[in-house]
Amino acid sequence: MNVIADGNKPVIVWFRNDLRVQDNLALCAAGAAPVICLYIEDEKSPLRDLGGAQRWWLHHSLNALNSSLEALGSRLVVRRGAVNDVLDDIIAETGATSVVWNRRYDPAAIAVDTEIKSKLKSNDISVRSFDGQLLHEPTRIKTGGGTPFKVYSPFWRALNAGQEPREPVPTPLKLNDGSQRLASERLEDWNLLPTHPNWAGGMQNEWTPGETGAHERLEIFLDGPVRGYADDRNIPGQASTSKLSPHLAFGEITPFQIWHASSSVKDAPARDVEVFRKEVAWREFAYHLLYFFPKLATDNFNASFDAFPWGPTDPAKLKAWQTGQTGYPIVDAGMRELWQTGWMHNRVRMIVASFLIKHLMIDWREGETWFWDTLVDACPANNSASWQWVAGSGADAAPYYRIFNPILQGEKFDPDGAYVKRFVPELKNVPLKFLHHPWDAPREILDAVGVRLGTHYPLPVVDHIMARDRALEAYKETRGAA
Ligand code: FAD
Repeated sequence: MNVIADGNKPVIVWFRNDLRVQDNLALCAAGAAPVICLYIEDEKSPLRDLGGAQRWWLHHSLNALNSSLEALGSRLVVRRGAVNDVLDDIIAETGATSVVWNRRYDPAAIAVDTEIKSKLKSNDISVRSFDGQLLHEPTRIKTGGGTPFKVYSPFWRALNAGQEPREPVPTPLKLNDGSQRLASERLEDWNLLPTHPNWAGGMQNEWTPGETGAHERLEIFLDGPVRGYADDRNIPGQASTSKLSPHLAFGEITPFQIWHASSSVKDAPARDVEVFRKEVAWREFAYHLLYFFPKLATDNFNASFDAFPWGPTDPAKLKAWQTGQTGYPIVDAGMRELWQTGWMHNRVRMIVASFLIKHLMIDWREGETWFWDTLVDACPANNSASWQWVAGSGADAAPYYRIFNPILQGEKFDPDGAYVKRFVPELKNVPLKFLHHPWDAPREILDAVGVRLGTHYPLPVVDHIMARDRALEAYKETRGAA
């Protein structure tokens, strides 16, 4: 272990998106020196503000981290202000001579960290940073020609054939707390939780933010659903995926822990474990793209899409999509799952994203923004890379002309209707034959189950065939302009 302690001088461990005590190299680096565990709400941050769902998560995750640190004999000091000012204050108050952190990989955060590092160093404060968020540094995986990857499959082959990711590091048994005399703010005063109205009830029921919750999720997944993951991960009505994404987004668990735990599952078919690891590697790929293309959240990766004729956004249609009132049950179930729980199944994310972009002809950035605000796992790399993937404008993207048919997708991936019935309960008695396209049901069948379309559940906001043809036409125009 790389301990950086300078005699008995305090070390500041600056927590950011690494809200854990396990497998935390920065925390370990403090060794036996007095440690100050610090989280700063950066009031001058040039980074994108967290969305509402993630602010809720952050509140609970910081509380959980504080409990984990207390169990080790320390605590979390939380302060608001400009990062430079807060660090300067704490250094002045404690005589700390070093600051350590775990690295972040989105370019905006890298710029912030680089500037802070050079400022601290110019004041004779030692700075060390460590890995933890990604299995490999984005620059380590390169094509044979030394360029970044733009296609996932060779990226995965290079990742999988390369050096085995490091083992997780042990948790310190005890911390030497150096924060006794430091003031810490009250998290309650940060107003991270929604109040009027408190829309977080569904999230509260679904999630346990913090590393204990993260490890429970991993254990549940490896004890059960990993067996069959390769096929079942596409079925939103089953609990067949790990739901680790928000825990990864907040660094409550590391990809190293996930990688090594998945290799030690005894009786799971190798194919299931490999498909799971390949999904974890999609996250690595998204960070790789973001690292080399910092404008992934705002600019088309494939610039020929700059000519795409997105119409002006129709606010009523956008609202219907956001609130799960499009009249397409699988789309509405997904958008309501998102609103209620802060998360949506991956297959359904693809369906709803395709619907927004191609059926409603609304710019992918509107969808990306809504997801950013409502997802507990919103991630600067995964969210923008995935939206661009669906739009067709991304690296290694789905071709634009692949337009998901929301009826067939519903029938294929929600064959027993469990998912739609859960999130669109007003349709729960509609016979399965019509569940994914209730407008085709004869009037007497809908009457018998008490559903009147347009009253209890909307009629489709757009006709599928018309929308599909319109989207393909627009795509042809883009290609003509490219
Ligand atoms: P599992 O199936 O258990 O996979 C394990 C882990 O692998 C996930 O936690 C995640 O870190 C990673 N992973 C899985 N699928 C993908 C994928 N397709 N792309 C990248 N990484 C993946 N994921 C986010 O973490 N944050 C986002 O903001 C986000 N936005 C998305 C937006 C759209 C339009 C789409 C189509 C996908 C988005 N994803 C995002 C990817 C994916 O939907 C989620 O990572 C996944 O649903 C999380 O559920 P899970 O943890 O149960 O995944």
